Amino acid sequence: MTNNPFANVLQYFTTAADHLELDKTWRERLQDPDRVIEHEVSFELDSGKKKKVHGYRVQFNNARGPYKGGLRFHPEVAIDEVKSLAFLMALKCAVADIPMGGGKGGAQVNPKELSGAELERLARGWVQAFYHDIGPDKDIPAPDVYTSPQVMTWMVDEYSKIAGTYTPSSFTGKPLGKDGSEARDYSTSQGGFYVLRELARKLNLNPEKTTVAIQGFGNVGYNAARILNQAGYKIVAVSDSKGVLYDKRHQGMDPDNIRRQKEEKGVIGNAYCVGSVCDVEHYTELSNGDIFKLDVDIIIPAALGGVLTRENADTVRAKAIVELANGPVTPEADAVFEKKNIFVIPDILANAGGVIVSYYEWFQNKQDEHWDEDRVLDQLKANMVKQFNNIWTIHQSKGVPPRTAAYILGVGRIVEAMQ
Ligand code: NAD
Repeated sequence: MTNNPFANVLQYFTTAADHLELDKTWRERLQDPDRVIEHEVSFELDSGKKKKVHGYRVQFNNARGPYKGGLRFHPEVAIDEVKSLAFLMALKCAVADIPMGGGKGGAQVNPKELSGAELERLARGWVQAFYHDIGPDKDIPAPDVYTSPQVMTWMVDEYSKIAGTYTPSSFTGKPLGKDGSEARDYSTSQGGFYVLRELARKLNLNPEKTTVAIQGFGNVGYNAARILNQAGYKIVAVSDSKGVLYDKRHQGMDPDNIRRQKEEKGVIGNAYCVGSVCDVEHYTELSNGDIFKLDVDIIIPAALGGVLTRENADTVRAKAIVELANGPVTPEADAVFEKKNIFVIPDILANAGGVIVSYYEWFQNKQDEHWDEDRVLDQLKANMVKQFNNIWTIHQSKGVPPRTAAYILGVGRIVEAMQ
């Protein structure tokens, strides 16, 4: 089994490059990042002592526009993972047809060990170290693991101080009151919903009769559950790091009630935690991996990468998988799904709603505009549906799996821009 996320992306890239008949020179130019930048980030602890941590930014490809991608504060940095995520961002922006390139970065630090004031000084320290590498026309970071809209606000403030002028377009994912965009907080799930709905039409799935299991009940998983529930789909299983909550009757659960209970009692895996929400006779607790074995129509991985592998792919009974997480399916599992005729909407399309609305945020900041929610959602819907249909056409005409079709679309657009 391939465990290296960069090797996985490279494998998909190579298949697309074969279809596009790219020569060796093109392949080499496309598969290596433009720059891997590393700086020491220095900030003051509450004790008055100075702390230095390792900061990094991978700028993958900017042929289509400025680099764009998240920043994470995490104690471990696996450079292969960062490179693969930066590559995915470049491809995602191309598939979404937005004028942005791909990047990813962060700092090697455990934010849970920092006070709020220390976190702020770290965020400002990161900007001081990387000021010359980033900027609204060069590289625009956004939140990722353990970096929130609040962190983006501190970063914009620091960037603006150094630049000598207020520059909200230097970062996206900001809070609404601080030049953020309407709908940004749920745009990844909303975009995923638009493409899932297109697929449901192609597969003749009636929402009221379609059952869905979602792995992960964080920002993306919860919002996907909420949006799908509102559209009439039956959410029959949700999970978090502690376990799975499964509605055995397949009547559908109310995601808002689950969230309320989870917030109050802190767990999701124990059916009894949901008390009044769920009739315990009909709800059951499963162990984490079991969510993929359930007899449901659609599976949505919305937590971690590499969760559907050669080991468990055979147990999947769903008709479709919608990748809201980044890289949840390994190439070996993909091959099994292709054989079993399980349609996978790949991450570089399924979860592109987040970066699309990030681009709208950047655009609004640049134009000094604020679009209302309907305008943001109308544009997001039009774009997601258009790209779904582009990928569907390649999938049908070339007889390739949807992921290969998405890579052919994304790589082809980057090559066109480089040419
Ligand atoms: P989050 O931190 O808000 O939520 C993650 C969820 O995953 C939590 O509910 C956590 O309990 C759960 N989880 C962790 N380990 C698990 C396990 N072993 N089994 C089941 N659940 C587990 O993160 P998020 O922002 O919702 O992101 C989720 C995924 O979506 C990530 O892969 C991320 O890269 C991807 N993504 C997010 C965005 C975005 O806009 N937030 C955009 C594109 C892609």
